[in-house]
Amino acid sequence: MSFAASVLTLFPEMFPGPLGISLAGSALGRGDWTLQAYDIRNHGIGRHRAVDDTPAGGGAGMVLRADVLAAAVDAVSPSDDPRPRLLMSPRGRPLTQARVRALAAGPGVVIVCGRFEGVDERVIAGRGLEEVSIGDYVLSGGEVAAMVVLDACVRLLPGVMGKQASGEEESFEQGLLEYPHYTRPREWEGASTPEVLMSGDHAKIARWRRAEAEKLTRERRPDLIDR
Ligand code: SAH
Repeated sequence: MSFAASVLTLFPEMFPGPLGISLAGSALGRGDWTLQAYDIRNHGIGRHRAVDDTPAGGGAGMVLRADVLAAAVDAVSPSDDPRPRLLMSPRGRPLTQARVRALAAGPGVVIVCGRFEGVDERVIAGRGLEEVSIGDYVLSGGEVAAMVVLDACVRLLPGVMGKQASGEEESFEQGLLEYPHYTRPREWEGASTPEVLMSGDHAKIARWRRAEAEKLTRERRPDLIDR
């Protein structure tokens, strides 16, 4: 069974975009995952297929209508759909590698991309949408954020990453940032590869990498250590 992604967007032509290239793209071609980019405007109202309206209470911008968005969700995700439904939103719980792992281990995901000022609050509870943020900054729409979620999930699907092991030592997987990497040439612009990496002593190399990872994490992300 492959990982089934459905993305609800006003700009379906943005997909697969970068997800059609490299690891994610080859996996898509092999059918390791599927991608449905569904146009919210299919459920727009009237001759102009309106999807948004002015905010109740006044203020700048436009808000995606609850009825339009709910109809789009219902069209791609029946009430017994086992897939989690995410709403990309700067107000959401920040995405973590642990959440990505959990998503990647499941049947897939339904992702709603907001635009304008966001979506009518009622549709969030009404369709059981889980708000997810990709960081503390504001994008113009949820599409790029949805691609971030999907890219992170797809690379974890069985057989997608060249060497399965390369997932386990990576940043965040052990609550640490990753240790530094080096490759050839051994000397470059006066900087040499650390001696220990050339020693062939695998236990010693593992200890060095662990110590480097801890040092980097303490310096750059003490919050990860506290967690
Ligand atoms: N007025 C909203 C921002 C709307 S940005 C606010 O202040 O919270 C328009 C859309 O872009 C959002 O509906 C959301 O889908 C997407 N978006 C913006 N920033 C995001 C982020 N950090 N993470 C996930 N999605 C984001």
